Amino acid sequence: MSDETPSFTNEQAHLQLVAALRESEILRELAKLLASSLDLNHILQVLVKRTTDVCGVQRCSVWLLENSHRAFIPATYYLISHNLSSQHVQAADSIWYRSSLSLDDPVLHRLLEKGTIILDDLGTEPTLRIVAEKFLVRSVMLVALVREGRPVGMLSLDDPGESRTFSLEQQQLVRAIGQQAAIAIDNARLYQQAQEERKRADRLIERARAIYEVAMAVNSEKDLSEVLEIAARHLVNGLDADGGAIALLDGETLRLVASINKLQAQQNLLSAPTAQTTVSLADLPNCLQAATDSAPLFVTAAQVEGAEKLWYHTLGLDNVLIVPLMEATKGGPSHTSHCAGFAFVHYHNPDHHPSRGQRAFAQDIAAQCALAIEKARLLAEARQAAALATERANTLNAVFHAMTEGITVLSQDGRVLLHNSAAAHFLGKALNSQDRLKDFLQRQSAHTLDGQPITAEYSPLVRALHGEPIRGERFVTKRVDGAERILELNIAPVHDASERQIGVVSAFRDITEQMRIEQYIRRALETMLHVAEAVSGITDIQDILRSVLTMALTALSCDRGLVQLYDEKEATFTPLLSVGFDALEEEQWITEQKQWFPPETDASSRFHADLIQGHATLIHIEQYLHLPDLLNRTEVLVAPITHRDHLLGLLMLDRSPITGSDIATSEPRPEFTSWDMAVIEGIAQLAGLAIEQIHWQQEAINARASETAMREANMLKDQFLAITAHEFRTPLTIILAHSQIILRSLRKTTDQEKNGSSQLPHLGETLSVIEEQTRQLTNIVNTFLEVTQINSGQLQLKLEEVDLAEIAKQVVTNYSAASADHEISCIVEPSEHSYLVKGDNARLLQIITNLVQNAIKYSPLGGPVTVSLRRRKALEGNANIEVCVEDNGIGIPKEAQPRLFERFYRAPNAQDMKAKGIGLGLYLVAELLHMHGGAIRVESSGVFGEGSRFIFTLPMLERETIARV
Ligand code: ADP
Repeated sequence: MSDETPSFTNEQAHLQLVAALRESEILRELAKLLASSLDLNHILQVLVKRTTDVCGVQRCSVWLLENSHRAFIPATYYLISHNLSSQHVQAADSIWYRSSLSLDDPVLHRLLEKGTIILDDLGTEPTLRIVAEKFLVRSVMLVALVREGRPVGMLSLDDPGESRTFSLEQQQLVRAIGQQAAIAIDNARLYQQAQEERKRADRLIERARAIYEVAMAVNSEKDLSEVLEIAARHLVNGLDADGGAIALLDGETLRLVASINKLQAQQNLLSAPTAQTTVSLADLPNCLQAATDSAPLFVTAAQVEGAEKLWYHTLGLDNVLIVPLMEATKGGPSHTSHCAGFAFVHYHNPDHHPSRGQRAFAQDIAAQCALAIEKARLLAEARQAAALATERANTLNAVFHAMTEGITVLSQDGRVLLHNSAAAHFLGKALNSQDRLKDFLQRQSAHTLDGQPITAEYSPLVRALHGEPIRGERFVTKRVDGAERILELNIAPVHDASERQIGVVSAFRDITEQMRIEQYIRRALETMLHVAEAVSGITDIQDILRSVLTMALTALSCDRGLVQLYDEKEATFTPLLSVGFDALEEEQWITEQKQWFPPETDASSRFHADLIQGHATLIHIEQYLHLPDLLNRTEVLVAPITHRDHLLGLLMLDRSPITGSDIATSEPRPEFTSWDMAVIEGIAQLAGLAIEQIHWQQEAINARASETAMREANMLKDQFLAITAHEFRTPLTIILAHSQIILRSLRKTTDQEKNGSSQLPHLGETLSVIEEQTRQLTNIVNTFLEVTQINSGQLQLKLEEVDLAEIAKQVVTNYSAASADHEISCIVEPSEHSYLVKGDNARLLQIITNLVQNAIKYSPLGGPVTVSLRRRKALEGNANIEVCVEDNGIGIPKEAQPRLFERFYRAPNAQDMKAKGIGLGLYLVAELLHMHGGAIRVESSGVFGEGSRFIFTLPMLERETIARV
């Protein structure tokens, strides 16, 4: 500042100061005003008004940078011009608001470069001339609104239609205002943006919540229609729609299940009786399209026609967003899906085009609906499966309880988990779920068939829990009613998924009846065999008959018996011999019995007729009762000794009489059973055969010289054996007949028992046992016949060239399928020669079959059975073929081995294990091999489990021999 121009300087300075003060005041005020608001509109209004005021211009307008950042677009303006008609202003307004100034315009370029420009006449700017004319702009000051180097917009100041100038102060002031305005506008816009973002976020949250709620409904216990109702509501709300509906596809038919109408909130279309709730998908082309695209499709009412229009109309839908409910296809590749139904979102306004976000939301809700549909279907399937499973379980339960076998399931710690009615019936209250095996075994004593007590730790159940398999074990125990019964027990372990034993299932059968019948049959069979064997060596009739009588008494547990001879011509009986009487007793007994046999003394004559026909009969005590001074109040079993329909004599047996004071105290003697009668009939017939044989023998001896006679006698003996075997057929038939009688009587007992019990004895099984025994007898007869044929030299071999390996393989194949417990295999040692022999195919098959059958029979615990063939060089002559049948069974004691191939011989261990057999099989095998020029031997340590090896050899057919055959 200079001293020479103090007054001027002072005045100027004063003016400047005043101006500056005013300016700063205006600015402060404006800044305050602008800063106090984040409302862009308000800010702009204040800005244009104040700027117009303070800068002394008639018009101030503000332009803002548009969103794409490429142009300024008009925001607002303020005008205090009075010489413009309001009509003019209005017309200009609508054009102005739609105009824009590109940032590429050279004027704006300059503006942004300089910050402020003043144009004296805008009409001279080629790019802005039209703007100038339309809005009556002449002289204009433009001020760029810039924040931190970013253009925000511009201010434009002018007096419409007039030329003017702008003072430096005005320029300075507007620039300053522009700086404040740029900050305020920018802040307000950022705020606005933030607000929008927040709104968007809120909308997203809202939608997410809606989806979450639908998902919750899907996972709840609610039923499908309720879930879909919820989904429809959220869909309509979330999409700002006016209503909506959900329909499900059932095959090709669409069925409405949920509907929402915002305007009539209470109205439920489903309950409206007139609403059409089903439609064929084929009638809805837009729905088909949406399903094909797997994407929502918006159609206005105008775009829809025909049946589809009608369907939407029924549902109260105008303009519809069709959302397909796509369900992932079960079992298919992950990307395949099928349409399970549709959601329809309804808008009144045809211009409402759902945004991308809205479509995505609709698809999310649709996915939840699809899940709900799938869940409902799975649930229905599961319910169905559960119903089926229950039905099956009930059936199984019924079968379980109806089974005649007693079944119990024990846990590994010995608790009874389960038992069926048969088990409960047998064991009574002893069996309950609290029962521990230890307590149970203490109560339920058991012993072996030969009377040895079974201790708790050796009980089959305890052994089974320790892992031992129990198969067909038999023992005696008491039924709940105290009756001693024989049980057959099978126990199998129960394993968990990791093969650990977690318990056992035991099945038992009451085989008391079966055993009784088996015993009868065995005894009958054994007796008859013994009788046949015994009498075959005796030549004296008296001896034969004594021997027969003695054996019959033993077999039938009788004490006394008598043989009488019958004279056909005289029709009289003469006592021949007796067993078990003292002299006096016998005489009296005979005298008594004599009275019955002549036909004239047989009141009913049936008794006599029975005897003549070869049937055994009983003389009951009651039949004597009317007789005075009766000594023997007993039952007598009488069997006729017949041969070729001739009565030769009688076999009479009785059980000791009970006399005097014993009558009251003694147990009644068991009555004779039908089995006893069958046995005695068989024995009596054997006696008849023996007597017949004696006659022949006698005739032969008389007729020839002694040496020839001896040979003859031997031959006859064998012939006898042949006849015996033939005649065995008769007792066989009788056994069969009597088995039927037993069956009938069993049925009767069952009927009587039925009142007190529900468990039937195993009638069918009993019958099958008898049948099996009968078949066994038939086999025996056949074996007998073969033995006699061999002995009498009648058996002829049909010799031909046969392959022994083929025969062995055939036997192994035959038995592999039939025997589950034995693994039967054939090993043929490779050889350059084949295993050819000269032999009878059928007989060789019989030999190997016999050995394999024995190997199976005598390996009661199962195990491998191997047939192996190899070639053996002979010392001289042809090589041999060696066939070995090997098992891991009971073995053969050393002392038994030399006798093994004798007739009727059975090793003691075979008899102990109660395997069926008569001891003729190996004899036959040895004989047949002998006839083929072969031989057989046995090797065994005699130790149980180490088994036996039966080795036979046959001469091999060598090449040159083959040539000759
Ligand atoms: P069966 O088997 O009818 O008793 P066999 O003549 O076939 O008559 O056998 C005679 C005896 O030889 C049998 O009773 C048995 O003692 C013994 N035996 C035969 N084969 C075997 C075998 N594989 N293991 C143990 N013993 C056997």
